[in-house]
Amino acid sequence: MIIVMSADATAEQISDIEKRVKDWGYGVHPIYGAERTVIGATGVPEADKSRYMESLEALPYVEQVMGILRPYKFASREFHPEGTVIDVKGVPVGGNQIALMAGPCTVETYEQTWESAVACKAAGANILRGGAYKPSTSPYSFQGHGVPALKILRDIADKLEMRVITEVMDVRNVELVCGYADILQIGTRNMQNYDLLREVGKVQTPVMLKRGMTAKIEEWLQAAEYILLGGNPNVMLCERGIRTFETYTRNTLDLSAVPAAKELSHLPVIVDPSQGTGKRSLVQAMTKAAVAVGADGLLIEVHPHPDQALKDGAQQLTTTDFSALIAELHPIAKAIGRTF
Ligand code: PEP
Ligand code: MN
Repeated sequence: MIIVMSADATAEQISDIEKRVKDWGYGVHPIYGAERTVIGATGVPEADKSRYMESLEALPYVEQVMGILRPYKFASREFHPEGTVIDVKGVPVGGNQIALMAGPCTVETYEQTWESAVACKAAGANILRGGAYKPSTSPYSFQGHGVPALKILRDIADKLEMRVITEVMDVRNVELVCGYADILQIGTRNMQNYDLLREVGKVQTPVMLKRGMTAKIEEWLQAAEYILLGGNPNVMLCERGIRTFETYTRNTLDLSAVPAAKELSHLPVIVDPSQGTGKRSLVQAMTKAAVAVGADGLLIEVHPHPDQALKDGAQQLTTTDFSALIAELHPIAKAIGRTF
């Protein structure tokens, strides 16, 4: 770490810091500038860093303390320079092939989920999405059918040879949802639910971690670090749009986060253009853009009758629109050397 002394720090205060760092057992590398002194401290273990940084920063004669390394290690690109491919029961996520996850926002009925799944599968999706537990801003809106919805997802996915991705919201339900899902989705509202992150870190079921709607990329990667540190190496990230001043779109789909996250991390990055725009008319264009910027997968909401949907009707594609969209994605994927 680097300790920047205040401009008016005295010689005694500078040696006080040098002594503290030495007493903790770390290397001291001071640079005595004309205006101020900067002290490099080397060999500080990750686990001690934040404690020492905080105690130094509290001193009036220290201006700033900075870490040199990134605040995440297992999630960093350096940890796996070649990138990670997650095996979702035979379906790769990461690598050359772009993963296609599609289905309704929410499991409403068996028939509705079936109709959506059949069309998604026919268009090339091999991972079925659908919410059984729905995080809702309003307590009055539909909260999901729970276990019966998990059963519907599993049954349909098995019949169509698809994998299942569905959200888990509660630490008490992780084991239960693992019994039905092939990928656990952590929603945007739970990205900083650290107990939940630790809990999904204890299992081996792949986890798709959505970016918090107000989270910086670094915070998103630190959240992934919780899961990886817990012992689950199967983590994928999902950009689903962030909150900005814009209200025309439901969220601002931050596609720059895709190459940024891939530069910083080895984890596969999925894009959700459905929550990302909130508008059916924009989903197609943003999906194409997502493929072009290097997304490793797509998560798209498809409903047989969006006008009758219990949730997110405005952003769900019809089954016909979805197949047309996928056909248009192939040449884009080909142009950047990838496949579906
Ligand atoms: C969803 O995928 O339907 C969903 C609720 O996602 P998010 O957590 O991104 O809002
Ligand atoms: Mn939704």
